[in-house]
Amino acid sequence: MTERMTEHYPWQASTWRSLADRLTQDTLPHALLLHGPAGIGKRHFATRFAHALVCEQRHADGLPCGRCPSCLLYAADNHPDMHVVEPEKEGGVIKIDQIRALIADLSLSRHAGGYKVAIIHPAEVMNTAAANSLLKTLEEPAANTLIMLVAEQLSRLPATIRSRCQKLRFTVPESSMAGDWLREKLAENGASPDAAPQLLMIAQGAPLRALADAEKDLPALRQSLLEALLELSEGRRDPVKVAGEWLKLEQPMPIKYLHGWVSDMIRFRQVPQSFADNMDYQKMLHSLCVDIEIQKLYSYLDRIAESLPLMAQLNPLPIIESLLIHWANMPKQKTIMQD
Ligand SMILES: [Zn+2]
Repeated sequence: MTERMTEHYPWQASTWRSLADRLTQDTLPHALLLHGPAGIGKRHFATRFAHALVCEQRHADGLPCGRCPSCLLYAADNHPDMHVVEPEKEGGVIKIDQIRALIADLSLSRHAGGYKVAIIHPAEVMNTAAANSLLKTLEEPAANTLIMLVAEQLSRLPATIRSRCQKLRFTVPESSMAGDWLREKLAENGASPDAAPQLLMIAQGAPLRALADAEKDLPALRQSLLEALLELSEGRRDPVKVAGEWLKLEQPMPIKYLHGWVSDMIRFRQVPQSFADNMDYQKMLHSLCVDIEIQKLYSYLDRIAESLPLMAQLNPLPIIESLLIHWANMPKQKTIMQD
């Protein structure tokens, strides 16, 4: 299990500390209601804390050990003391049968030495019958059991549910912390970190929502870069103009994509069946490389690989121009390959 799986977001550190302290002091309530706006990591926090609760050898800061039998079961998504109740289909409700099954599971004795934990998410989509059936369990909790309800809109939960849970409010993080986190994630994804303030503004300060918005745009960008490559090879675009457009993107991201595609073209030309990495682009990559000599692809790949480290040291524009001009003028064979 990696560290990443156990970490919580930086803006949740103080909430984590206070709950971890209560866990150590054995003063946790039996039901917690985690509430706050979408896209700030409530569900993620509940899952991390549930993991800590089932771990049998927690660290002093409350983080799970990642090695005990319970942690291994958790990692395999198969811990018998950990229950997640969600709508069966997206946008659906949580039904009474699901809550009854949960209550039955919680009444069984614990599998291991940790807690029994349930996460109900999003709690506000429990229908009335489901919410009513949960009331008794919230009133008469079993020992060493924690039920975590996760909700965006408290007002949509029945008062009877709200009054039986201890509320834990999650807020949008302070903007500089959210900005630092988002910049780092965008850079990891090959996107421009400079987009962070605008993305956060659109997402009303919720960092996970901002990141999800950015990720939705990346596939479109990748597609448009590949389309430009196709247009260049068909002589429909001017490589110098395309280079000017690529220069506006975070460098060397477009050239990294170019490197990946040319590698894929070579793999495809050698063993067509092995071409599984970019199935969605298979047809496009096929038509891009089908009439180029494989040796030419190899030397072009070398050229890209040599150019990549130079982009940080030199003016990137002539490098991009040179690579795209080379691509646009790649000599084509007249042989027809069968696919
Ligand atoms: Zn553990």
